[in-house]
Amino acid sequence: MKALIVEKDEDGKTHAAVQEIDESRLPETEVTVAVDYSTVNYKDGLCIGPGAGLVRSYPHVPGIDFAGTVEASSDARYRPGDKVVLTGWRVGEAHWGGYAQKARVRADWLVPLPDGLTTRAAMAVGTAGLTAMLAVMALEDHGLKPGHGPVLVTGAAGGVGSVAVAILAKLGHEVAAVTGRPEQAEYLKSLGATQIVAREELTEVTRKPLESEVWAGCIDAVAGAMLGRVLKQMKYGSSVAAIGLAGGAAIEGALITPFILRGVNLLGIDSVMQPYDNRLRAWKRIARDLPMDQLEAMVEPATLADLPRLGAAILKGQVRGRVVVDVN
Ligand code: NDP
Repeated sequence: MKALIVEKDEDGKTHAAVQEIDESRLPETEVTVAVDYSTVNYKDGLCIGPGAGLVRSYPHVPGIDFAGTVEASSDARYRPGDKVVLTGWRVGEAHWGGYAQKARVRADWLVPLPDGLTTRAAMAVGTAGLTAMLAVMALEDHGLKPGHGPVLVTGAAGGVGSVAVAILAKLGHEVAAVTGRPEQAEYLKSLGATQIVAREELTEVTRKPLESEVWAGCIDAVAGAMLGRVLKQMKYGSSVAAIGLAGGAAIEGALITPFILRGVNLLGIDSVMQPYDNRLRAWKRIARDLPMDQLEAMVEPATLADLPRLGAAILKGQVRGRVVVDVN
């Protein structure tokens, strides 16, 4: 079988290359999946490269998500021929992942492919899209409804951001997309954004306790100075779903005022350890609420051989939308 193998040399440098390996090298666990497609997420960029402490041991097969067909299973929940999706559970980091023609994983980590999705569409969605949907569901659970006002999406031309824009627009929300790439404005409008906000408008750190109330909700992939500013611009009682840290791990310039004077909620979203039932709920919502023609417009097709280049590109914020990797 073919796999992207990352090896570490004596100087501690990592090298990624496609190799032919024996299937017997796969970890011994419950379900063997013939992988159709995987994707490229920010974390994959880290794991294709030096690992950033995420990879447990080398040689390693990255790929934090995949979709394919069960080939063998010692767990009664899955049978040969079943179509499945995997995201999270530190697969592709602590365990061998989806950048291979086969993967062997625990049954608990899998979700049956929802009706209405192909394995390719599931990976066009991938961890990024699942996270976007979990964020939309969290905002809805905290009261967001169409008509409440503009919903801000930061890091909008990235993977999570692109899917979030498309889902929110399809649900009837007015969507404002923040991007540092003005050349992506037309793309974001094609996904349903009605307002484009330049990244620089939200990156200055201020000491103001509050600003004018603008946003009815926010899905934030950036954190850093941007989240500090956005919190002060949220409408009374609204929520921000924090999903990422593309702009830094701190929340710069943040004050307590939005929380105690405007009742703003900051909702943390984690896709990795998300319980099975909510994962299933999110995938079913994706099959229903994500417009498939717009999903296709976000897709850049790739093969295993493209991954070293794409891994480096996503770390520089240069990947648009969703990469779908045909591992065969
Ligand atoms: P992408 O790289 O595809 O998207 C991130 C986007 O953020 C970029 O496209 C860019 O958008 C913007 N951006 C990048 N650097 C900066 C910066 N310095 N300042 C401001 N904006 C910046 O990554 P993903 O969409 O896959 O992931 C986004 C984030 O979410 C990552 O931090 C990732 O680790 C995290 N994540 C978290 C998950 C969870 O379970 N909570 C699951 C998946 C991802 P633009 O060019 O439009 O400005």
